[in-house]
Amino acid sequence: MLSESFHCYLVAKDEAGKAHAQLARRATVDLPAGEVLIRVAYSSLNYKDALSATGHPGVTRKFPHIPGIDAAGVVAQSSSPMVRVGEEVFVTGFDLGQNTWGGFAEFVRVPAAWVMPLPDGLSLREVMIYGTAGLTAGQCVEAIERSGIAPDHGEVVVTGASGGVGSLAVAILARAGYQVVASTGKKEARERLTLLGARRVVSREDVNDTTRKPLLAPHWAAAVDTVGGNTLSTLVRSVEHEGCVAACGLVGGTDLPLTVYPFILRGVSLVGVDSSECSLEARTRIWKKLAERWKPKHLDTIATEDISLDKLGGAIERILAGRTIGRILVRPNVPAGETLSA
Ligand code: NDP
Repeated sequence: MLSESFHCYLVAKDEAGKAHAQLARRATVDLPAGEVLIRVAYSSLNYKDALSATGHPGVTRKFPHIPGIDAAGVVAQSSSPMVRVGEEVFVTGFDLGQNTWGGFAEFVRVPAAWVMPLPDGLSLREVMIYGTAGLTAGQCVEAIERSGIAPDHGEVVVTGASGGVGSLAVAILARAGYQVVASTGKKEARERLTLLGARRVVSREDVNDTTRKPLLAPHWAAAVDTVGGNTLSTLVRSVEHEGCVAACGLVGGTDLPLTVYPFILRGVSLVGVDSSECSLEARTRIWKKLAERWKPKHLDTIATEDISLDKLGGAIERILAGRTIGRILVRPNVPAGETLSA
């Protein structure tokens, strides 16, 4: 029997436009339209969720809102022939948690086209350790492979390496045989990054050239950038001839100070990655790799925290300040105050 209401992390805006979050109960009938109702076992915290939860209009325009761009759980109701009641499924991206109520709730209701079956080889928990961050890291690795860069071509650097996308990119690239260099601002993350497969760990400053030189000494065969801004500019200026930079993030800024020289003198490719509208074909292919040959031996260690909805406020502050490590799993069904271990 389905309960008439559910717990959620609800964000509202006041008259001055300031966002306020609280734990709330909402009626199940108020969930958005969609063919599939999912009882959420796990969600995860992404940087984008923190932007949504703090009222960033580039992510969420409609309030009151429930953030959470990732959700995994069991189908409670379905009017689609493609999705069975009782099936273990997950959703990442599309509009979930942006302007459609998302995974920081005991239930989500979504269009059947957003729902993916749990891949063989992954549990509900593991699929959320990856979540949007894993799909994005996988897209970045595919972009590097597509540009013809093989593991023996040289070092591949990952920026923001201790974060969600960064940790998964380090682990997947290492699993795919690449020589990974992790760039991090956190001394305390160095050992973890080595355990995930980084051959070397460098500082943020090592990948942040402020000289404005149009080209820098070539260092890297390829790069995965989660930082943006001057870090991304540095990478484009310092990859080798016909190198590739896969860009997915903006934690360090949205400007991109560059000239055309890296492109016309070194044949550098700058590939943008968007996970939320990633095609079903690409998702299916990438999730199969994430479940099989790319799966890190210690995927579980990338989840550094399990939290209930009442702990989200603090975690959101920390991710916005760049202070979290790895992935934070959110457990909407766990009562407030219960202690969880990762
Ligand atoms: P996290 O917060 O988990 O990771 C970001 C990491 O970047 C931090 O842990 C930190 O790592 C580093 N960092 C933080 N602030 C700064 C700063 N000011 N300058 C330089 N480095 C900084 O976030 P996610 O992994 O969830 O997301 C990373 C980025 O990727 C975000 O911008 C997010 O919006 C984007 N993203 C994009 C997607 C897409 O489809 N394009 C999908 C998913 C994420 P360290 O201390 O190790 O340097």
